[in-house]
Amino acid sequence: MGNPLDPQEFRRQAHMVVDFIADYYQDIEKYPVRSQVEPGYLPKLLPKSSPTCPEPIETILQDVKAHILPGLTHWQSPNYFAFFPASASIAGHGLAGANALPSKVLPFSGNGGGVLQGTTCEVILCTLVAARDRVLSRIGRENIGKLVVYGSDQTHCSFQKASRIVGIHQCNFRIIKTDKSTSFALSPDLLRTTISADVEAGLIPIYVCATVGTTSTTSVDPLGPICNVAQDYTMWVHVDAAYAGNTCICPEFRHFIDGVEGANSFSMNAHKWFFTTHDCCCLWVREPSALVKSLSTNPEYLRSKTTDSKQVVDYKDWQITLSRRFRALKLWLVLRSYGVEILRNLIRSHVEMAKLFEGFLATDKRFEIVVPRNFALVCFRISPSAINMLATIGENDYSANIFGSGGACCGGLELSTYEKCINDVNCKLLESINSSGHIYMTHAVVDGVFVLRFAVGATLTEEQHVFMAWEIVKEHADATLNMYKFGKL
Ligand SMILES: *Cc1c(COP(=O)(O)O)cnc(C)c1O
Repeated sequence: MGNPLDPQEFRRQAHMVVDFIADYYQDIEKYPVRSQVEPGYLPKLLPKSSPTCPEPIETILQDVKAHILPGLTHWQSPNYFAFFPASASIAGHGLAGANALPSKVLPFSGNGGGVLQGTTCEVILCTLVAARDRVLSRIGRENIGKLVVYGSDQTHCSFQKASRIVGIHQCNFRIIKTDKSTSFALSPDLLRTTISADVEAGLIPIYVCATVGTTSTTSVDPLGPICNVAQDYTMWVHVDAAYAGNTCICPEFRHFIDGVEGANSFSMNAHKWFFTTHDCCCLWVREPSALVKSLSTNPEYLRSKTTDSKQVVDYKDWQITLSRRFRALKLWLVLRSYGVEILRNLIRSHVEMAKLFEGFLATDKRFEIVVPRNFALVCFRISPSAINMLATIGENDYSANIFGSGGACCGGLELSTYEKCINDVNCKLLESINSSGHIYMTHAVVDGVFVLRFAVGATLTEEQHVFMAWEIVKEHADATLNMYKFGKL
């Protein structure tokens, strides 16, 4: 083997890898959607030590196929309906800055700006640091113990992680409870009462994380009223629209972010639903200077005429990392290759397919939709009445059917035996569906209720896959309810 960047060899190997990937996409439906291997299967298949001698790419790709592929869950499968999509595309395998997005998408005009980062976790961390320092520079760093941050019980866990990293005391991390009556949206009234109690107690509210499209159910927090509350206390509002923010390119979904003008920052993951491969999170900030104050550095070894002249934006001062991937390139390629119109239509078609599935559920009395659908996620379960009916007809009683799925299914709430039973049946249903390998869905627990999440968004998914998914859900519901009826659950 010669030079590791030999152009001829690069051409040959790159062609082979491209063929490998193309074959993979062609055959993707042949693989079980959720990986069927046991954790730890791989080390047993690998040699004990790293190879000393070179091996040809042919052998390496063989091993990838034989050993790595079986361990993958196929996020790009058209039968993938789990978590949220991680939509890939041909162009996305590769935005000249977030500013390349259509201007109507930009939530902030004037001095605002955008930057591409890796993930929402990083974005929340950076904005929280800016919000923290803005306050501490005024009141003194020794007062960090007084700072309070706010989210709801539906806010993504990355907010909690970021709070820990920036040194917010655990006792000052407020989780405001949501419930079904508001479809699990954060209540501005509760937010206000919580904040004013904290202020009364001598604490200092600094940051609220609002979500458009929560991870469990795609609930939407009311941005306008939340920003109004925050404004009264000069707090930073971050809008986490990791998943649903992608729909803002469609005018009919824009209303979900109404009120965003009052926020300080807004982010969405292009790697979720913008046909861009991991990782690519777009952050817009109203006052980039707040980020720069916290994150800028100016070492001699990075100085040049251009940086000194301030003719370029030094994005290292808007985020954690200095060295970074060329994310703008892949986003720009996606926009160039498909144009906004095709991207809109893809998103719309996913929403239509979710509606289709929702329609199927509505025709079958055994199921209920637990939270109203906003985007392309349908949250449903086997309804308590369907389970009840069997319990009354059969010689069943609920307690006999508990198979102890434990905390995972009740989200830490005290549930009655009856509620646990309903959750357990649904938990079993999901496991039965996923073990089949035909489709893959995941779950959430909201207010103690175990829900199955049917998230449409894989780039290859078509209507036929949704029809098939519905058949599979029905078939496994039949089997699960039957097992329950005969006391075999
Ligand atoms: C997926 C998701 C996140 C996490 O995104 P990462 O980019 O993986 O950090 C955060 N918030 C919401 C609402 C999400 O759906």
